[in-house]
Amino acid sequence: MNLNDQSGSASGPEIGVEIHSLMTELFPICRSITGDGFRKTLGILGRHIPLTVHEVPSGTRVFDWTVPKEWNIRDAFIKDRKGKRIVDFQRSNLHVVSYSLPVRAILPLAELKRHLHTLPGQPDLVPYKTAYYSEDWGFCLSHRQLLGLEEGDYEVVIDSTLEDGSLTYGESYVKGATEDEILVSIHACHPSLANDNLSGVGLATMLARHLGSAERRFSYRFLFIPGTIGAITWLCLNEGKLGKIKAGLVVAGAGDGGDVTYQRSRRGDAEIDWAAAHVLGHAARPGRLLDFRPYGYDERQYCSPGFDLPVGRFSRTPFGEYPEYHTSGDDMTFVSAGSLADSFRKILDIFEVLEGNRTYRNVNPKGEPQLGRRGLYAAEDEKNLATLWVLNLSDGGHSLLDIAERSALPFETVREAARILEKAGLLVERTGPDGVKT
Ligand code: ZN
Repeated sequence: MNLNDQSGSASGPEIGVEIHSLMTELFPICRSITGDGFRKTLGILGRHIPLTVHEVPSGTRVFDWTVPKEWNIRDAFIKDRKGKRIVDFQRSNLHVVSYSLPVRAILPLAELKRHLHTLPGQPDLVPYKTAYYSEDWGFCLSHRQLLGLEEGDYEVVIDSTLEDGSLTYGESYVKGATEDEILVSIHACHPSLANDNLSGVGLATMLARHLGSAERRFSYRFLFIPGTIGAITWLCLNEGKLGKIKAGLVVAGAGDGGDVTYQRSRRGDAEIDWAAAHVLGHAARPGRLLDFRPYGYDERQYCSPGFDLPVGRFSRTPFGEYPEYHTSGDDMTFVSAGSLADSFRKILDIFEVLEGNRTYRNVNPKGEPQLGRRGLYAAEDEKNLATLWVLNLSDGGHSLLDIAERSALPFETVREAARILEKAGLLVERTGPDGVKT
């Protein structure tokens, strides 16, 4: 669509390389739902986009939840009898269960095993585990390594703190011509995992930068938040402003080699649902459309019945459908610059449909207007067809997106036809009773 043409290299393949390299920089940081890893991540994003960092104190009530204590970790390991670190947080932060309480102990293997997590079905991968709302500690390792552990005592250290502090989140606002907003929500609380969800972090950062480079109709709000508690906290603190949100996307798992998947909002027929269906339907490799389920990422919160916001989810392979999900297999080799560039382009295409979607009225609805006299016959059949469809369906009740869907023509072709007809005085944009464009 034309946004690609306008922006040139900004949405060409090199954007994928740029996103991949930002993700590579963020990958080693030990993030969790609170703590310095999250702050450090936002600090890096703030070098690319204007970012406001918010701190919400532990103990703050947010709807049915409470902002938890802040977790930080400096080191963790399991040492064998020879003093060798056999499981080492410094080698991978996935080795420690996120939110583990501090511990210093010498434990026999049988007792230690109660705190060890493995994946017997994927014996070479280290699982990603959390203990957010249960006071516990643990280590994650490969099942193959577990099977090789000898009986005897092991030294266990987790040098962490769990104390009153705050929950940190970042917000980047790109002001448009109107206050109507498009929300992009990213969970940024996972440690060294690439697709889930540094892909979303990288994509959203570069989208915010790109959207800020030209005037747009909508304002865009990008949230970098811890999963679940971050979305609930943001919704609670911003409840009065939610009416401005005209569309939204949760972006997660968007860098793997699978095709794009879009999960509709709870409403199922929101404008963003149609826009995404249109873009995916006209893509060279058509994507997959899923209906809303109250299971997944933060769309669960935005689409909870008290809000019912028009927020869908943009992913590639859905979580749970790839074996690397929530394991050490979801590393930087699992995502590619090509897939990231494709996700970037498709999200922009969806936004471009929303930006350009209007509803018009044909001012000459009795019979077709004489197009030849006005020089409105185009050389290509598709353009003429688009002109006739726009004239026929522009009765004030069909948007350009409705017309594109009904005619099976690309949105941009329909939009261009409407632009020409409006210039020729044959269409007027539908206005409300007070003269406001609706
Ligand atoms: Zn996850």
